Amino acid sequence: MGIISLINKDVKAENETKKVIVALRVMYITVLIAFAIDILLAGSDTLRSCAMTVFIYASAMVILFIFTYFCKTRTASVLFMLFLYFWIIKFIPIFGWSAGLQNYFIIILMICFFGTYGKPVYKFITSGFVLVIRIIIIMLFGKVESLVAHSLLTDKLIQITNISAVFLAIIYISYVFSKTEKEGEEKLMKYNDQLKREANTDRLTGLFNRRRAVEYLQEMIDEQNGNPISVAMGDIDFFKKVNDSYGHDIGDVVLKEVAAMMTRMCAHDAFVARWGGEEFLIIYKDHNGDQAYIKLEELRRAIQHMVINTCGHEIKITMTFGLSEYDFEKDGETAIKEADERLYQGKANGRNQVVY
Ligand code: GH3
Ligand code: MG
Ligand code: MG
Repeated sequence: MGIISLINKDVKAENETKKVIVALRVMYITVLIAFAIDILLAGSDTLRSCAMTVFIYASAMVILFIFTYFCKTRTASVLFMLFLYFWIIKFIPIFGWSAGLQNYFIIILMICFFGTYGKPVYKFITSGFVLVIRIIIIMLFGKVESLVAHSLLTDKLIQITNISAVFLAIIYISYVFSKTEKEGEEKLMKYNDQLKREANTDRLTGLFNRRRAVEYLQEMIDEQNGNPISVAMGDIDFFKKVNDSYGHDIGDVVLKEVAAMMTRMCAHDAFVARWGGEEFLIIYKDHNGDQAYIKLEELRRAIQHMVINTCGHEIKITMTFGLSEYDFEKDGETAIKEADERLYQGKANGRNQVVY
């Protein structure tokens, strides 16, 4: 397993975000590397004088790192913060104030704000606590020299190591959390779009549903500037027979094929929706009744000549349509009602026709 996948391994508890625990692991590795460089730069005399302490803290870091694979995010965050406290306090007198270990307090603040999910008030209390400790540390160690004296260059290099580690940690945490927040927003937007689409779509045929059809007609009425609108209601003839003869599943296939044909034929000039069952509503924008009638006749004929091949059957169907031109003095509902009435006239007249 590569180092990246090891760091990215999922958290133990379900329903917890992975990013915090991954950030903690990256922090442990960053601090451990900086710690190792500090020791190397400080030289063998320093190591000899506090070998046991170094060993204990390095081991503790490794154990706590491993622990992140088995404990909850909150526990891991608290343990990391506690560890850093003790580590900073223990090693300032060893490396000296100028080594800059006190800067690691900023990482504690970052973890406190980004790594824990709690009420903001707790975060502010913890931050206040961090500030107090930081002030006490200035009082206690503000002038402390390193345990073993070393050159100015070594001093500077240790300082650079620690400040670099702190900067890298801050950059990493800021990047990860700003990125995931953005991703979360994007996901939410996509999810909203999907919900909207589903609320407007008929599952079986993929056409718009009745809800969307009513909404669309109203939109057309609201934005039309004296241009005509025509509304047609279509119903498959003797569809019950299709179900009775071939079964409901094949009935569904027929509905899908009819929907696909209607979509193809109306692609450029009309809106098609499944009104319910085997009934479809077509809205012709910028078409008066006569213009819509021509288009609807073409559609009716195309459906009449369509052969649906499914499960070894060759099924042919016809449709009846009622057509109505929207009257600007009335509402959309009246136009739909009129189209529906004409549809039933067409059924009574022998089906497979357009009534206008
Ligand atoms: P008409 O020519 O008078 O319209 O006769 P019809 O048989 O088409 O009309 P009827 O209203 O008696 O039957 C409609 C049938 O459509 C009954 C119903 O089971 C079927 N149906 C409605 N929705 C679906 C569906 O989603 N899938 C399938 N397979 N059948 C459906
Ligand atoms: Mg029917
Ligand atoms: Mg019907």
